[in-house]
Amino acid sequence: MKIAELFYSIQGEGVLVGVPSVFIRTSGCNLRCTWCDTPYTSWQPEGTDLELDQILDEVSAHPARHVVVTGGEPMIAPDIIPLTARLRERGLHITIETAGTVFTPVSCDLMSISPKLANSTPDDPRWGRQHERLRIQPQVLAELMARYEYQLKFVIERPGDLDEVRSLVESLGADREHVILMPEGTDAERLRERGVWLTEICKSEGFRFSPRLHVDLWGNRRGV
Ligand code: SF4
Repeated sequence: MKIAELFYSIQGEGVLVGVPSVFIRTSGCNLRCTWCDTPYTSWQPEGTDLELDQILDEVSAHPARHVVVTGGEPMIAPDIIPLTARLRERGLHITIETAGTVFTPVSCDLMSISPKLANSTPDDPRWGRQHERLRIQPQVLAELMARYEYQLKFVIERPGDLDEVRSLVESLGADREHVILMPEGTDAERLRERGVWLTEICKSEGFRFSPRLHVDLWGNRRGV
């Protein structure tokens, strides 16, 4: 399968923030977020074709108990089912980072679902239409939430984005403790500016706040 990068770091976002984890980043995505922070897996997908054994050997080279399968969109990656099954056989805790537009019956301990809000839709005429059509798939989201331990993670650009979050959370019947708001931004200064008002929204609405710890620590770099 096509892997954009495979590295050992700490989880920078969500309920497992700070946990040492091996990241397997698949290449290829069915969406095209305008602010995508990994365009090398979506707008200009790149990577290396690796056999499952090569991926598993690389994972085993690190002392982590947690593995994060991310993308791109890992749920559309060929071999995602056998990959996650073999990671599970090794007793690893598996997080899948997905936009929640496609259901695939993977092995997973934490389904980290990040539905894309209207702020993600690009101006590009062709991709903009496909992105807008695909970005919210209520049946897929409901199935993922029913089958797996989950978190719902939203990327927030401005306070007005909350209207869409509230409406989606309500229609899905999600518990607010599972809902995580994260500022959009690829540098520490912008994350801090947006984090200041976003934490106030979390306090008043009962949502969780997540930093983007890897960006705070290392900036918008690959392999961290
Ligand atoms: S879903 Fe993720 S990988 Fe795909 S375009 Fe959006 S941010 Fe990029």
